[in-house]
Amino acid sequence: QEANVGVVGLAAMGASLARNLAHHGNRVAVYNRTYKRTEAFMQEYGSEGVFIPSQTVKEFVESLSVPRTAIIMVKAGEPTDQVIKELAEYMEQGDIIVDGGNAYFEDTIRREKEMAKLGIHFVGMGVSGGEEGALNGPSMMPGGSDWSWNTLKPILESIAAKAPDGEPCVAHIGPNGAGHFVKMVHNGIEYADMQLIAESYDLMRRGLGMAPEQIGDVFAQWNETELDSYLVEITAEVLRKRDEKTGKPLVDVIVDHAGMKGTGTWTVQTALSLGVPVTGIAEAVFARGLSDQTQLREQAQKDPFNGPDASLALDDEAKQAFIELIRQALYASKIVAYAQGFNEIAEAGKVYGWDIDMAQLARIWRAGCIIRAKFLNRISDAFESGAADVSLLFAPYFKQALENCEAAWRKVIATAVEHGIPTPVFSSSLAYFDGLRAKRLPAALIQGQRDLFGAHTYQRVDEPGAFHTLWAEPGQKEIQVSH
Ligand code: NDP
Repeated sequence: QEANVGVVGLAAMGASLARNLAHHGNRVAVYNRTYKRTEAFMQEYGSEGVFIPSQTVKEFVESLSVPRTAIIMVKAGEPTDQVIKELAEYMEQGDIIVDGGNAYFEDTIRREKEMAKLGIHFVGMGVSGGEEGALNGPSMMPGGSDWSWNTLKPILESIAAKAPDGEPCVAHIGPNGAGHFVKMVHNGIEYADMQLIAESYDLMRRGLGMAPEQIGDVFAQWNETELDSYLVEITAEVLRKRDEKTGKPLVDVIVDHAGMKGTGTWTVQTALSLGVPVTGIAEAVFARGLSDQTQLREQAQKDPFNGPDASLALDDEAKQAFIELIRQALYASKIVAYAQGFNEIAEAGKVYGWDIDMAQLARIWRAGCIIRAKFLNRISDAFESGAADVSLLFAPYFKQALENCEAAWRKVIATAVEHGIPTPVFSSSLAYFDGLRAKRLPAALIQGQRDLFGAHTYQRVDEPGAFHTLWAEPGQKEIQVSH
């Protein structure tokens, strides 16, 4: 009996995906470098569906029906290259290799070219939703050729998460690295969203002196508003959890260093190369970075800086009012962070020649993935109507939302600054918004400085061309350098 699809790599993600495939009637070939893991997988889950285990890559490839489809779910980077090389040795023209790991999109572009030379279709596919998503329905973002998509579509649609309207959360994003690119930005947005939630928590915890459970209740209430999302929902769950060992709120016994694996950093590095300001995502990555600067933080505790008291010392009524302001500030900042992420995708689309359907992308993020949220419907509508062509911020729904939240947004940030509670993503998002509002930016002065120290030239508001001022000459004569 032959398998119609195979999975290489049976750690958390691969095992869940293989089971999901089997639950939907696929005959699934499974292989893992260390055979023990395959044996353990078969022992635990072998009865859930049709699995065909192999001990070698050769056997694995031979167990697949032609044209073969193999999904790789191994550690990103070098291990992925190694597995691709091994598979390619036995695969033939017309076969498909899908990389479902968190690959860097430039690697995917390279790999696709290498495989194309052998006639093998290579598909870089972003998979979101973690282990649970992989098992019960992930959101999937495949790149690669149209030909591969036609073959993969029925398989992927069957295992994908379903949005509330029943639409499967998978779509062909574009050629070569497009799928991994949007998955990378998805993770970047996730960083910003998580940091915004964390800043809101900090304001309530230290600013309003609330207990974690109480704050958990606030997030549960917020989940009934425009903020309805998976991340807000799980925040309530985390904050309401008590540690079994000590009986304290779990969040209080967790070390305050946030880890990361790289996709957030890549999102920012790529945005810098593309020249797209993703200030919310960048500040979120840096906030995790600061949390991990052990020596610096220890020194700051040993030799403390003077500063204000974090407590706002509000009575109950004022507290409730301030909580609502935080909610609005969170919503406004979140809109900016998402808009910036979508801008990065739009710019990459131009540079790399991908024709990415933003409305569709927002739709496949409505379920299965970590940033799933009700307001992705609004984002999808905004792109669909063309109102978000320049930025999501100009779509009437979001413009109105920002304007409604603006006063609260400013008040929360001003209060946070006065009380010494850091709100880097709140603050940078508002600065971005105000930067857009400004009729003239101080960038004119920067151009003047650049021309003075480096003869970098500047443009005039009243005449085309590039100009340079002879700063050292008497009268500082201006010359036109080009037209
Ligand atoms: P890991 O990233 O921990 O990788 C472990 C798997 O990789 C094992 O099957 C291991 O085999 C295999 N492997 C490592 N090196 C090699 C090698 N040189 N040759 C062959 N196989 C190798 O597993 P996860 O399941 O957590 O993640 C898989 C992929 O999915 C990663 O790229 C990850 O970034 C991505 N991903 C993970 C998510 C998550 O929530 N965990 C979410 C979305 C994507 P062995 O048993 O022999 O060691």
